[in-house]
Amino acid sequence: MKIPMVDLRAQYATIREEVDEAVSRVMEESAFILGAHVRDFEEEFAAWCGVRHAVGVNSGTAALHLALLAAGIGAGDEVITVPNTFVATVEAIAYTGARVVLVDVDPETLNMDVERLRHAVTAKTRAILPVHLYGNPADMEGILEVARSAGAVMLEDAAQAHGALHGDRRAGSMGRAGCFSFYPGKNLGAYGDGGAVVTDDREIADAVRMYANHGRSEKHAHHVVGWNERLDAIQAAVLRVKLRHIDAWNESRREMARLYDTLLEGVHGIVPVAPMKGTTPVYHLYVVRVERGSRDGLRRRLDEAGIASGIHYPVAIHRTPAFEHLGYREGDFPVAESASSKIVSLPIYPEIGEERVRAVVSEVRAWMESI
Ligand SMILES: *Cc1c(COP(=O)(O)O)cnc(C)c1O
Repeated sequence: MKIPMVDLRAQYATIREEVDEAVSRVMEESAFILGAHVRDFEEEFAAWCGVRHAVGVNSGTAALHLALLAAGIGAGDEVITVPNTFVATVEAIAYTGARVVLVDVDPETLNMDVERLRHAVTAKTRAILPVHLYGNPADMEGILEVARSAGAVMLEDAAQAHGALHGDRRAGSMGRAGCFSFYPGKNLGAYGDGGAVVTDDREIADAVRMYANHGRSEKHAHHVVGWNERLDAIQAAVLRVKLRHIDAWNESRREMARLYDTLLEGVHGIVPVAPMKGTTPVYHLYVVRVERGSRDGLRRRLDEAGIASGIHYPVAIHRTPAFEHLGYREGDFPVAESASSKIVSLPIYPEIGEERVRAVVSEVRAWMESI
């Protein structure tokens, strides 16, 4: 039995008719840029996130970049984020000309550590950009409190957390703006690249819309030098279909994660990364720490059994060549660095099913018992 990290073909098989119909409608209408599909998706996605506005863009990276610009971030400003994220979080800050400031993460949740954040704030801090890593909400209340007292905005990188809850608030809805990716493998994935910025702030929404569409508010009225970073109508049509299923898919991921938690309980040396209390995670990834023996050995064993695994992420941002210029050194973020040498992501996706989860765990158990 081959077990991949995600199986997009298995998911397509469950929604083929709906998707094919929606996509062919766009072709029939031949309205490929903006228009009704994008607008309808934006309205439905905003409502689902519990905010007033959503603006579709062409990637999660664009969502982060344009949300930062819309919040007025630029050269001379400092933006604080974490070292254990996908590189796009930090690229987006770099595009604005602002300085990237990293803070270490909490050893339990691997999300932004509020105390360390408090110490990293300076007079130049203009934005704080936590990441809801693996679909686990960061400590929004703690971070908001620090942002408020620093006079900075909180923006959320919710690219892995569609539908996750902090109390009863959706990820992406608590900061000035929330940034989503619809990369195909994300919990809500398009059939190509896509992203969105969600916000309650009309000015932020208007600014993102303008920046993403050549700096214009209406035809031929170009107010600023913008970009071409619009959400594609075909992707919007696919996303509208998938939005009808996302709650069930997230619930299925949670069930499979609970099964992993239960089955792994007795496996000595395997410690799942824990979501914060009071949150409802959406398990974009199911990540464990390998506290005993060789992580590579475990991954080899899984590979030989046809079971995929991953490391998210093997190299912290400050150890990445592209961001060496930030001037950080090995040892600056001990929690993130230690995690990056121990974590393994096990396969999880809505269609994985109990049998495959059991097969993964029995391979993990067999390896851990053999060492
Ligand atoms: C996927 C991802 C992004 C970037 O999204 P793209 O759509 O690939 O540009 C940003 N941040 C995080 C945490 C992500 O997982």
